[in-house]
Amino acid sequence: MKQIELNDQIFELLLSSDKINEINTRLASNLNTDYEGKDPIILSVLDGSFMFCADLLRKLDFQHLFKFVKISSYTGMESTGEIKIETTLDLDLQGKEVLIIEDIVDTGRTMTAFVKYLKQKGAVDIKICTLLFKPEAIQSKPNLDYIGIEIKNEFVLGYGLDWDYRGRQYPDIYQLKKP
Ligand code: 5GP
Repeated sequence: MKQIELNDQIFELLLSSDKINEINTRLASNLNTDYEGKDPIILSVLDGSFMFCADLLRKLDFQHLFKFVKISSYTGMESTGEIKIETTLDLDLQGKEVLIIEDIVDTGRTMTAFVKYLKQKGAVDIKICTLLFKPEAIQSKPNLDYIGIEIKNEFVLGYGLDWDYRGRQYPDIYQLKKP
């Protein structure tokens, strides 16, 4: 589909499923090289990253422990600025390597707060892999070790990313069309 309509708004195709698969293959290849022989804890941020994570994990060939973590910061199309880590992490992170899998880094506040939280729990080597990055929106820049693709500062949905819990089902990623 070239475009979709949701709640009277038009979203235009930004990344096709083929393009996303290409990006995922590149990211996985870099991760497979860097984590060869290692056994990190992979934490993936719900809800938006579930589809990306499912595809990426199937391309990884190193041992790891995996857990989803619920962090919230968005209402509608706006970041609330208030970061809530809603999952109790029942894992011993002391001295552990952690790889975070995130769908999108926008203001960067979520990742900055999460990295701080993980450091307080004793994690030593924390890396971030994000599918999408909006450089123009950044306010608090975490160290982004693996970036799928940089995009413009427009709201996107599809491939797990939602707008008020809708639009997650699309295999492609769509960007809000400006009037
Ligand atoms: P940040 O803290 O970097 O501003 O926001 C990160 C979170 O905001 C992401 O995990 C994602 O849930 C949400 N987010 C940021 N930009 C977008 C966007 O364009 N579309 C959607 N659907 N969610 C976004």
